[in-house]
Amino acid sequence: ETKTISETKEIIQDNKDYTLFSWSKQKGTNPIAVKYGEGVYLYDYDGKRYIDFSSGLMNVNIGHGDQRITAAVMKQMQEVSYVTPSCVTKVRGELGKKLAEICPGDLNKAFFTLCGATSIENAIKLARLYTGRHKILTRYQSYHGASVGAISASGDPRRIPVDAQQAPNFVHFDLPYAYRYEHGEEALLKDCVAQLERIIAYEGPGNIAAILLEGQSGSSGCFMYPDGYLKSVRQICDKHGILLIMDEVMSGFGRTGKWFGFQHHDIVPDMIAMAKGLTCGYLPFGCLMVSDKIAVKYDDAVLPLGLTYSAHPVSCAAALETLKIYEDDNLIENAEAMGRYLDSRIEELKQKHPCIGDWRNEGLLGCLELVKNRKTKEPMAPFNAKPDEMVVMNKVAAKIKELGMYTFVRWGYVFIAPPLIVTKEQIDEGLAIISEALKIADEAAQP
Ligand code: PLP
Repeated sequence: ETKTISETKEIIQDNKDYTLFSWSKQKGTNPIAVKYGEGVYLYDYDGKRYIDFSSGLMNVNIGHGDQRITAAVMKQMQEVSYVTPSCVTKVRGELGKKLAEICPGDLNKAFFTLCGATSIENAIKLARLYTGRHKILTRYQSYHGASVGAISASGDPRRIPVDAQQAPNFVHFDLPYAYRYEHGEEALLKDCVAQLERIIAYEGPGNIAAILLEGQSGSSGCFMYPDGYLKSVRQICDKHGILLIMDEVMSGFGRTGKWFGFQHHDIVPDMIAMAKGLTCGYLPFGCLMVSDKIAVKYDDAVLPLGLTYSAHPVSCAAALETLKIYEDDNLIENAEAMGRYLDSRIEELKQKHPCIGDWRNEGLLGCLELVKNRKTKEPMAPFNAKPDEMVVMNKVAAKIKELGMYTFVRWGYVFIAPPLIVTKEQIDEGLAIISEALKIADEAAQP
């Protein structure tokens, strides 16, 4: 049954009075009170339906309310809900084996974590231990999590308010992207590789433990790596004994039309940080996948990593069932096909909306970059936009919500990353909402 308006208000009020909201002014929050989710839709307590065009935070890849996960979780809970990480369960071993099968190369050992940030923290720690070096190289315009190490690794405005708390020994480099680079693709690749080589020389290759990069850029703006870039990074790492860590927290598990984002670039990293799509948010979970080359060092040495909830049996059960669903329902193939459909539909939208500057997408991890002027490419909202620079984008976001869509709108970007189960009809339904909302941004753009 649906609640009355006053009950909905009460739900929201309790949340506002007694809980804190991430990344927001507490008074400015206007949350949707979600009663239940089904497939690509969320429903509030008043019965209003929202199409979820960002899969939650790009994590609910299999869609909402899949009762196969509920059943797997219940079954595990009926047997045992918790064992210490020094005990084992059937699901932990099965999941490790399945992940080793999915991952390329000699990435065969899983250290199970709780979320993206704990995967990243452990990757950084292990890279330093293994190499005996201290520096981690990462890019600006990236996000790796909110804990101290992970936010220090990130090159995102979310890092700026906590600048004084940043951990040492993270070095950032800039990776221009095609839309805002004037000299063509070939020059872009050369420029990016040369810059990385220079930075490694300046920092001292013998001091660098790892290069950490997203398998495919996500919440910073879905920037594409120039063709050949990750291959060059792999070669540079090998030349200097630097480890390559791919952060597949957002881009992993079919999101880009392959198991992992880096698989579009024909490379094998030394570690993979995972979370989100591993359990699709049904339970919190994460994993750091490690190569045999690294793992073997700890055959006879103590591995100084640990979490009370490492390899949590119920999360392992949820993950194992989630991986089965990707395969049983051909979701990765669908992500690839729907990504292509989305690309063709966005081409049409570009004709209609002068505010669309760029569309960047791989599979179902995409975003529109809105501009005030297509010629000058003046952004609709700049990097780390101040509140008065967000007026138009806030109106676009409000319209999207009013018309019954939940998605991720940040600075000048509108993200389009629906669950991998999405159909053509649902893509059309969502794009009709976005198209309506873009009329607001068109008014602020040069025709
Ligand atoms: N890495 C990437 C690429 C992410 O997109 C995120 C979250 O959005 C994280 C790490 C952090 O994950 P979590 O929020 O689960 O700690």
